[in-house]
Amino acid sequence: AQEALRQSQKMEAVGQLTGGIAHDFNNMLTGVIGGLDLIQRNIAAGRMDRVQKYIDAASTSAQRAAGLTSRLLAFGRRQSLDLKVTDVNALVTSMEDLLHRTLGEQIALESHLADDLWAASTDANQLESALLNLCINARDAMPNGGKLTVETDNAELDDSYARDYPELQAGQYVILSVTDTGSGMSTSTIEKVFEPFFTTKPVGQGTGLGLSMIYGFARQSGGHIRIYSELGQGTTVKLFLPRFEGEIQTDVAPAIAIPRGAG
Ligand code: ADP
Repeated sequence: AQEALRQSQKMEAVGQLTGGIAHDFNNMLTGVIGGLDLIQRNIAAGRMDRVQKYIDAASTSAQRAAGLTSRLLAFGRRQSLDLKVTDVNALVTSMEDLLHRTLGEQIALESHLADDLWAASTDANQLESALLNLCINARDAMPNGGKLTVETDNAELDDSYARDYPELQAGQYVILSVTDTGSGMSTSTIEKVFEPFFTTKPVGQGTGLGLSMIYGFARQSGGHIRIYSELGQGTTVKLFLPRFEGEIQTDVAPAIAIPRGAG
């Protein structure tokens, strides 16, 4: 009976979840269909001056729908990581323009990059999308502006640290952290942030897949993610990426394939 109950609760959860996604997707489709309808009517009425506006609106909705399905697809398939020697400082620097644009004028972006940062073993593409995602979350947590700090650092974790955080093996890590001065999270939110589809954002704005995907990516690279957050104060998300333990060939920059068997 216990098992049957658990099964029915699980089915109910799946039902709520797919219902939520279908609802979001439907809203986006409504935006596309409504936009196309308005385009048609305005063309028929000879109001060409209005057409561009509705094309833009329909296109934005369609892109959001495409974004949702591609996140769902990416979530469904277990991504195979392309682990390479990665210069995390260079990756952050190369994204600064994009991050500035994403954050807007109300949020100041600061970066503190460690001078002698170790090379990390990670998938640079996935790390880029993780960093962008963290910055979008931070932006959403600071609707009235604030400060976002991106930091890199080397960290040597000994056994005592590993005892406190059993999911983190002792060893050397490159840390990439993103700190905002936003809303922070309640303890009940912190407990759920890594669950797929957990979101506190309004329908259509959050999929609840960002942090669960970053969690999967960090664990798959042999690292980890930790969150420190205080309600009303802000949030720090730390990504631990394993240090690359091989020779770095400086003539091939910035990313070199790790030879088979290494890493
Ligand atoms: P989404 O952003 O689509 O909601 P995420 O998995 O990225 O999905 O985040 C889940 C939830 O975690 C968010 O809805 C929000 O409540 C909370 N969260 C994530 N990042 C932050 C942050 N920097 N500050 C406050 N809350 C956050």
